[in-house]
Amino acid sequence: MIPPDIIRPEIAALSAYPVQSASGFIKLDAMENPYAFPAMLQARLLARLSEASLNRYPSADAPELKAAIRQAMSIPAELDILLGNGSDEIIQLIALACARPGASLLSVEPAFVMFKMIAKFCGLKYVGVPLKTDFSIHIEAMIAAIERDQPAVTFIANPNNPTGNCFDRTSLHRLITTAEKNHGLVVIDEAYFAFSRESFLRDIAQYPNAVLMRTVSKLGLAGVRLGMLIGRREWLQEFDKLRLPYNINCLTQAAAIFALEHYDALLLQAESIKQERSRLTTMLKQIAGLQPFPSDANFILVRVAAADKIFNALLSRKILVKHTSKSHPLMANTLRLTVGTPAENDAMISALKYSISL
Ligand code: PMP
Repeated sequence: MIPPDIIRPEIAALSAYPVQSASGFIKLDAMENPYAFPAMLQARLLARLSEASLNRYPSADAPELKAAIRQAMSIPAELDILLGNGSDEIIQLIALACARPGASLLSVEPAFVMFKMIAKFCGLKYVGVPLKTDFSIHIEAMIAAIERDQPAVTFIANPNNPTGNCFDRTSLHRLITTAEKNHGLVVIDEAYFAFSRESFLRDIAQYPNAVLMRTVSKLGLAGVRLGMLIGRREWLQEFDKLRLPYNINCLTQAAAIFALEHYDALLLQAESIKQERSRLTTMLKQIAGLQPFPSDANFILVRVAAADKIFNALLSRKILVKHTSKSHPLMANTLRLTVGTPAENDAMISALKYSISL
């Protein structure tokens, strides 16, 4: 038995982040790239990995990997890079650094669930401002929340997960400048940048209070676990103090350096996912009783009359999607469908048609 006064009550009240077993399923629940690492590069990747010194601690600062990221993603010279074991770890570093007594973390709702969970892990008060019913940002409400709650940090995923849309640029600019006046940091999370036309990479240096987060997870390297924070040195050097030494292991560093040398091949896969996204959207629109929302990401949120029934019918046909209905009132009767390979998407469409007809 754990004595009652050891574990913090807010941690005891949490449930761990749920990851459903997907063995034997067509896996369309977690926004992974459905394509394997390009076959013609695999032997060279293995050769590169075999050179890694497994007996040594990895490079702590990973300068070679940072140079590869800077080059591949055209990171402006005036901005620094901090690496995390996935962008999840970076969210946690930022939240930990900002968790002064009474401090709060602001986001929109619905948003990526880890923003709220990590706020709790770190003892930050969480403030969520609902999106409008069309999932656009309610900028007046966000500005009011910033002025009222004075959040230490605001997280905005753009495109947003689980809704899939980008927010209006002018609104995000207003949000950042309002946060600046109220002494708050804004983190723009571009996890889905490869599938959207939008980026703040070119603008981030102009704001004294904004940083940008990216990940290679949606680019076909989710198993590698690598996220990056891009921003001014004065911010990044504070977060870096909280980073555990050697957080990016040597296999991740070697694999990511090699993959980024072939960044074009990854972007090509992202392009075909975008093409599949539009084919899938067209097919979804043709299914009566199903409403797909516009997406700038590698997934499509749909509204269906009986999401529970459809989700379970898909499961029984060995197709795993994300049941998002209960995550927020604005998400009632929704499922989040990751864009898969053409064959996976065809299988999902036929299972959806069958499930709706039940
Ligand atoms: N940000 C957003 C908006 C996400 O949707 C996700 C993953 N679902 C992440 C960050 C986490 O990415 P990573 O795999 O780099 O931890």
